Amino acid sequence: MSKNGLSTETLAFLQGPRSLLINGEAVTGSGETVSIVDPSSGEVICDFPLASAADIDAAVTAARSALTRPSWSGMSGYERATCLYRLADLIEAHAETLAEIESLDFGMPIRMSRAMMASVPSKHLRYCAGWATRLDGTTKSSFPDTQTGGIHGFTFREPVGVVGAIIPWNSPMVMAIIKLAPALACGCTIVLKPSELTPLTAQYLGELAAAAGFPPGVINIVPGLGYEAGQALVDHPLLAKIAFTGSSNAARAIVGSVAEKLTPVALELGGKAPAIICADANLDAAARVAAGSCTSLQGQSCAAITRIYVERAVYPQFLERLTANLQALKIGPALDESSSLGPLVSASQYQRVQSYIAAGISAGATALSVSSTLPEGDGFYIAPVIFTDTKPSMSIVSDEIFGPVVVVEPFDSLDEAIALANDSPYGLFASAWTASIDKAHFLMRVLDVGYVAINGSGAFDASMPFGGVKQSGWGREFGEESVTHYTRIKTVAVTYDVS
Ligand code: NAP
Ligand code: MG
Repeated sequence: MSKNGLSTETLAFLQGPRSLLINGEAVTGSGETVSIVDPSSGEVICDFPLASAADIDAAVTAARSALTRPSWSGMSGYERATCLYRLADLIEAHAETLAEIESLDFGMPIRMSRAMMASVPSKHLRYCAGWATRLDGTTKSSFPDTQTGGIHGFTFREPVGVVGAIIPWNSPMVMAIIKLAPALACGCTIVLKPSELTPLTAQYLGELAAAAGFPPGVINIVPGLGYEAGQALVDHPLLAKIAFTGSSNAARAIVGSVAEKLTPVALELGGKAPAIICADANLDAAARVAAGSCTSLQGQSCAAITRIYVERAVYPQFLERLTANLQALKIGPALDESSSLGPLVSASQYQRVQSYIAAGISAGATALSVSSTLPEGDGFYIAPVIFTDTKPSMSIVSDEIFGPVVVVEPFDSLDEAIALANDSPYGLFASAWTASIDKAHFLMRVLDVGYVAINGSGAFDASMPFGGVKQSGWGREFGEESVTHYTRIKTVAVTYDVS
């Protein structure tokens, strides 16, 4: 598919006005705009309004008002769930348009966008909708039960209030849903700040949410600059919770900003995921999954496997298979049906990844060439790079690069492999490959991460808690853990006396 092959619905959306969503109204913001670039060609698609601090204030005020009048948290769980189910249905009905917009804006290959939009957002919304009617408290039974009086102790869950959600540019539609679905199910209202690099699916999502019947002010969508719109959101006094996904550096700035007013913060941050591949592993499967993971979203994925430690006996065989798998990937424009790898999101991300590759080479690491043909033109394409002969101190080993760059090193003992895998400030995700049930159970216990995949790529399902340890974050998303993010427990003690 070329850009000319976009569906009528996508073209109609692109030709329409760009806007923020505040209090149920499409607004054009304070006047400043940013150019939205198609990373497959480097061409400007459109200009998008940037939310100002005043826009953020209007959005938070609207979210607060939608929370306190009986429009959202005053609705029954069934009514909230109905809105979430309707939004899921609408997203499925418009999945092709969402896929096309996401591919155009972020550069996700269209086959992947289609598969993702057809299932991930709607599943997540429906899973969370189930929670809306299950936000139960507990009855406490530790008091003496007399005939004439005593204390009746119990708890209930209530929404935390207005949530300020800040999300990055990688897979922006899914990032938005991951924040919206549980917060709304719990009865919170939300101000969502997408990255200014990739705001298009968020605008479309806002239009679908209005059609799904969410009352005005419940969902506000305000793309803008991190240091301006993001900062204004973090600083807003009416915010009850900040839910942030992004880099550890931005997280540090946010945590510093809330030190005074102590707004609770949930953090989903970066990763440098290791894989341990033992000699008894299924090498074909391990190489296929590793190649898919390190190039997933062009390597712009927090859970991408980027450090692979292989038992020395099978190191050459694994390297050969990994290279073959990477070589088989076709790099091309995101809207081209035959592309399995698209461009990086932006010129600056392209420069950043190139400078890491150059730093690795000048530090003495060996870059194995994965021969690939790059498309002509000004798109931000980078062919996968495998580094060997590295040292743990090299930036290609220690830093989250967020590009298709992977380090592959041999190990001689399991203890050595574990030490290498855990030698990172990050602890989001890891994978381990072995046919030994003993080694598998040992590795899942000792890997210092929030999520371990054994002999596979893992399942990123709404029911499976996801989040990191160390500098990869605070808290978990997905599953019941999301409910603890967006609700708080109130304890009640009723004294009664009928003596
Ligand atoms: P980023 O620079 O940290 O930005 C993330 C979001 O925060 C953007 O909307 C950004 O706005 C905003 N922001 C930046 N500084 C801010 C501040 N001081 N106050 C408030 N908001 C601020 O990250 P990115 O480059 O967009 O995304 C890549 C990062 O996200 C990687 O580190 C990746 O690992 C992480 N990530 C983590 C997960 C996870 O689930 N653990 C998932 C996906 C991505 P601007 O766009 O204007 O900068
Ligand atoms: Mg950024």
